[in-house]
Amino acid sequence: MPPSFEGRADRPTGGGAPRRASTGGLAAPTDRPLADARRVPLDNITKSATPPEPVNCVTGELNPEFDPLKKWQLQAVARLALGDRHRVNVCMRHLRPDRREVDVRRSDKSGRAYYAGLMACGSVWTCPVCAPKIQAVRADEVRAAIDAWQGTVVLLTQTVPHSRQDALQPLLDRFTEALRKFKAGSPYKRASKRLGIAGSIRALETTDGLNGWHPHAHTILFLNGHSVSRKSLHGELFKLWESAAARAGFDGQLSPDAFNVQDASKVRNYITKMGTEYRWNAEHELVKAHSKRGLSHSLTPFDMLRRYLEAPDDGRLLARFADYALAFHGRRQLVWSDGLKKQLLGTEGLTDEQIAESIGEADAVLARIPLSDWTIIRKHNLQGHVLEVVNRYGASGLEHLLEAYRPPSHLCMNSG
Ligand SMILES: [Zn+2]
Repeated sequence: MPPSFEGRADRPTGGGAPRRASTGGLAAPTDRPLADARRVPLDNITKSATPPEPVNCVTGELNPEFDPLKKWQLQAVARLALGDRHRVNVCMRHLRPDRREVDVRRSDKSGRAYYAGLMACGSVWTCPVCAPKIQAVRADEVRAAIDAWQGTVVLLTQTVPHSRQDALQPLLDRFTEALRKFKAGSPYKRASKRLGIAGSIRALETTDGLNGWHPHAHTILFLNGHSVSRKSLHGELFKLWESAAARAGFDGQLSPDAFNVQDASKVRNYITKMGTEYRWNAEHELVKAHSKRGLSHSLTPFDMLRRYLEAPDDGRLLARFADYALAFHGRRQLVWSDGLKKQLLGTEGLTDEQIAESIGEADAVLARIPLSDWTIIRKHNLQGHVLEVVNRYGASGLEHLLEAYRPPSHLCMNSG
């Protein structure tokens, strides 16, 4: 029988602990090679993997609630897609080498429980547990930089022609080459001087839609003064983008959608999205609930995991996610122009890995979990569920929960 995922409704939890673990689910094979992982039979996903969405009885609108287990469920789907050699398999599952137990702490800031003492993968591309933590910090940094800037900011979006026949890796290679050529050399330097471009923050992204992979870059440009119009910016820079794209192997004329300059309000919207799209909160769920109903044909990589969780397909979604993970591996998601971060924030900040592993030193420790118990939690994929139980019922709630999962021999030993 495969291990269940994130809680088992049929296990007694006793005492003050909740008697029903929310959501059942997905078998997370830890020893399955990638090729096999993509052939996970559909019956490994239970029908209750995602709880029913609450509906507002007055308006009929969907009104989903925050689901604290979601990111753990999505991480298990990512493990399915990426196989047991990928570092997401280690994330929040194995103790750090210097630790013998796992702490559950409660964040002073958010009130939510989290783990300290576990290894974190720090992958903003592929890990639904690490990505929200990292993105929240990155969004705050970008917001602080814009607040500190005295001039103008605009949002530049660049993409290139693509079709369903394009494999992501070579398409992304050529696209990033075009981005590099766009800024390299004297034409961009001269244009920057004329337009007053003093710095930039570039984010790399992709979606997958009717025309296949759609890699694109959003760049926040920091401009001196307030006199440059979007029209003149577009006029000057679009020519450079056309030239760079052609030199990177993209033939033909670029469509107007391939190069877009938007004003500061769009920059604000973008940062808000940056800070929320990786958090599995109610607002995000609402947006996704609509997209599920066919209003959107474009999926972000994490949408693929979500779709699979909601309705497992024949493995295509996992295979697309694996292609994406391979193509984006080792690439930087956010690139600040030289010196800009230090200039505006006074620091270069933390790495993604440092953010993923960081803890609030003053945050209260709610429970300490020895390795023997952690092994049980990991085996049954209870990481998300344990956080909820400990946050609500403390260490005694955890004890009740674990009693239901400990093997009989363990119980005999304890009872002497
Ligand atoms: Zn991770």
